[in-house]
Amino acid sequence: MASSLQCVDCAQQYPIQRVIYSCEACGGLLDVRHDFGDPSIAISPSLFDERLGTFAAPYNSGVWRFKELVYPGVDDSAIVTRMEGNTNLYELPRVASYAGVDSLFLKHEGENPTGSFKDRGMTTGVTQARILGMERVACASTGNTSASMASYAARADMQGIIFLQNQQIALGKLAQGIAFGATCLEINADFDRNMELVRQVSEKLGIYLLNSINPFRLEGQKSIMFEALQQLRWHVPDWIVVPGGNLGNSSAFGKGLLEMIQVGLIDRLPRLAIIQAEGANPLYRHFRDGFRQYEPVNADTIATAIKIGNPVNLQKAIRALEWTSGVVEQVSDQQIMDAKAIIDGVGIGCEPASACSVAGAKKLAERGIIKRGDTVLGILTGHVLKDPEATIGYHADQLPGLSPQHQNVMLQVEDDFDAIVRVLGKRAP
Ligand SMILES: *Cc1c(COP(=O)(O)O)cnc(C)c1O
Ligand SMILES: [Zn+2]
Repeated sequence: MASSLQCVDCAQQYPIQRVIYSCEACGGLLDVRHDFGDPSIAISPSLFDERLGTFAAPYNSGVWRFKELVYPGVDDSAIVTRMEGNTNLYELPRVASYAGVDSLFLKHEGENPTGSFKDRGMTTGVTQARILGMERVACASTGNTSASMASYAARADMQGIIFLQNQQIALGKLAQGIAFGATCLEINADFDRNMELVRQVSEKLGIYLLNSINPFRLEGQKSIMFEALQQLRWHVPDWIVVPGGNLGNSSAFGKGLLEMIQVGLIDRLPRLAIIQAEGANPLYRHFRDGFRQYEPVNADTIATAIKIGNPVNLQKAIRALEWTSGVVEQVSDQQIMDAKAIIDGVGIGCEPASACSVAGAKKLAERGIIKRGDTVLGILTGHVLKDPEATIGYHADQLPGLSPQHQNVMLQVEDDFDAIVRVLGKRAP
């Protein structure tokens, strides 16, 4: 079963076991390409349905359940997994009515083992690191990639090395990297600069790079689409709405959807809507400009997971937009945090960046691009506990420049029976 690496720009091919992250001929991004033509493997809904509920590795993972589409030739004994994926798909009428659509599903990728979708890419990335005989793996991170890599590196007995910016790292994410035993470098530079540094250092020292420029990560992240479509019983929604930072997910979704068409799992493509924060919107600007001029930005947003000014997967995301007649929208920090309060308030919860899916769907519905009757699938990328400071700051009205529209105020009550009865005697509005 043949897999290879292929440049997205000039189509140059490379053997799968080469340690390269971009094309040697033209510098373009690389795709992992698999041969789905092997007649001994019949890819069909029932192949994947039969594995649901199994305890047997690796098919108990929501990534490796789709092994034939993710990494067909890999030896099961090489797989480094935490039984990631298998995340829930919620149908949420209250959130739908907030967004202004009839039918909204949210797939909660925060329900992965380390609390974000990054685990889906890390199981494939660290598996490839093991196949290549790597002892050290590294990434630059706004937090979730490092939390995930630290966990999977520890599982695989590798040294994980994480390049973190020295400010605005969400507390939950920082704690995970340290707890899982990674070598943590706090560097006085933003994410985009750390990205440059980790690429240079990894090349110099022969460390395997696990940022989403690594095409094996995107192969795992494709499974978000496979699993969501399986949960929707292969009924294709009209829209997939996803936050866009480094654009790994957007890129992976485009590739995965196209491959599902190729193997006959679905017969039409949904439209992709990529949502960026106003303060970190290079793709949005590029899209609005008809993809003529591209300029990185200096990123600033409360949604730290997407605080990225120069996304590495830009070209692949543009390709995904073209394939799916996709759109790009931007939302303000105020819109992000208000949407988050709605998602949190129905008992589901997510971290700030994830709320872009709902804030973006709402804005696109207001603009008439998403129609009320369209079926919308939004991706919640990270867990509510990742960034407790943002949540508490919002409800305490302590976020500079923001005024909470859906506040849950903490009540201060005396150590006094009557006072408590007085407060609780009035029912909540
Ligand atoms: C990494 C991350 C993103 C951004 O995803 P990209 O694939 O880089 O666009 C969004 N939300 C959360 C919670 C993340 O961890
Ligand atoms: Zn090339």
